[in-house]
Amino acid sequence: MNAPADRFPSPSAHTRALQALDSAHFLHPFTDHQALAAKGARVITRAEGIYVWDSEGHRILDGMSGLWCVNAGYGRRELAEAAYRQMLELPFYNAFFQTTTEPAVRLAQRLTALAPPVNGRRFSHVFFTSSGSEANDTNVRLVRRYWDLMGQPQRKVIISRWNAYHGSTVAAASLGGMAGMHAQGDLPIPGIVHIEQPYYWQHRRSDETPAAFGLRAARWLEEKILEVGPERVAAFIAEPVQGAGGVIIPPETYWPEVQRIVDKYGILLISDEVICAFGRLGHWFAYERFGTQPDLVTFAKAVTSGYIPLGGVLVNERVARVLIEGGEFTHGYTYSGHPVACAVALANLDLMAREHLPERVRHDTGPYLAQRFAELTDHPLVGVAETCGFVAGLILVRDKATLAPFPEEWAVGMTCRAHCFDTGVVMRAVGDRMIIAPPLVMTRADIDDMIALIRRALDATWADLRQQGKTAPGVS
Ligand SMILES: *Cc1c(COP(=O)(O)O)cnc(C)c1O
Repeated sequence: MNAPADRFPSPSAHTRALQALDSAHFLHPFTDHQALAAKGARVITRAEGIYVWDSEGHRILDGMSGLWCVNAGYGRRELAEAAYRQMLELPFYNAFFQTTTEPAVRLAQRLTALAPPVNGRRFSHVFFTSSGSEANDTNVRLVRRYWDLMGQPQRKVIISRWNAYHGSTVAAASLGGMAGMHAQGDLPIPGIVHIEQPYYWQHRRSDETPAAFGLRAARWLEEKILEVGPERVAAFIAEPVQGAGGVIIPPETYWPEVQRIVDKYGILLISDEVICAFGRLGHWFAYERFGTQPDLVTFAKAVTSGYIPLGGVLVNERVARVLIEGGEFTHGYTYSGHPVACAVALANLDLMAREHLPERVRHDTGPYLAQRFAELTDHPLVGVAETCGFVAGLILVRDKATLAPFPEEWAVGMTCRAHCFDTGVVMRAVGDRMIIAPPLVMTRADIDDMIALIRRALDATWADLRQQGKTAPGVS
């Protein structure tokens, strides 16, 4: 017997009690609560290194770094100690009353020093928030304020991309391109328009190379600018590699062409690096990886390795100077520059620098992950496997020769995700695209373990499909 029930006996009374209370009182983010109540939430109780444990004692390799954020891995005492020390000394003070705190000052200085200049212009300032969503809301206000101060108040339109994820507040969800989110609450708000994503496997023409496709996809931006009217466009916002959309890695030709286009029309470029910064793509910032020259860089998640909420916007001096000379910018959050969050971020950046995590991903573990991940294409279910630094995605297909997909209603990705959990590895499913974003502290041996678990989950998914007669005709 290898039914899941065999390996996972019915949950303990304590777990069941927590699951009942969870259903009774906790509204989860992005969750179908009826489906969750029927099943009961998995209760995660502790974590160490790259593993989490649930309340039934199962150890699970966290291939998603929590939610793209625990880059330094779990159980890092110095982050807890930084928070503890700061809480005892000064748990909170605001930055509104012409006051400041040392951790916020030091972190702003540190981040601006870490971010390489673009076109000879520095990132001189940081605006702090507590999340990526708030940071992107800040971007909308900041960009509009900038163009008002520049005497071009008609420049209000922000261009984004379908299937982008920029957060879940009203403005951030509008910037995002998730149809399911727009369908609830009359989004997007006015002044935000979208172009198609640079997803080769979705949009390629027959015989089109990735390089040719990358150029064509970038030119959708120019077409949209001309459609809106260049004098009305304020900014273009994009994730260097789309995360929540399914780890969409653009062809190498895409970003240079986008840069040429935003430069041509004088449009601000917002690089939403909430996932891609802090070593995820093998650099401190993802614009270094793609050679773009953003004016604003959104960050959150891994700036503290997820140990405490913090986000913000790195502001290039091109924009910062105008903003500062313009007088008061009537925007801010109670927790902008929260001293405890900033102290944890400083300790996290120290740790990442000491352990050379971005360099390790760039030169050692990233290339190794790419090699091991590519091997998965020998599996009968896997049509495509691609990585960029420490994010990776593979496409489950019905027919490897043609890359023909499974019918959507079979939800093969969700089946695979369930098998991953049962096997002991967290992988996320975006449709039939299976994705990972593992902790950057992984060793080569950890990567081997992860690949072995993924392979087992793929085998289990394949066995299900065969049993149900759902493999492609002629495939056995
Ligand atoms: C997660 C995410 C956000 C939103 O951050 P929150 O902290 O959840 O508000 C914004 N942009 C990107 C690219 C993200 O991945």
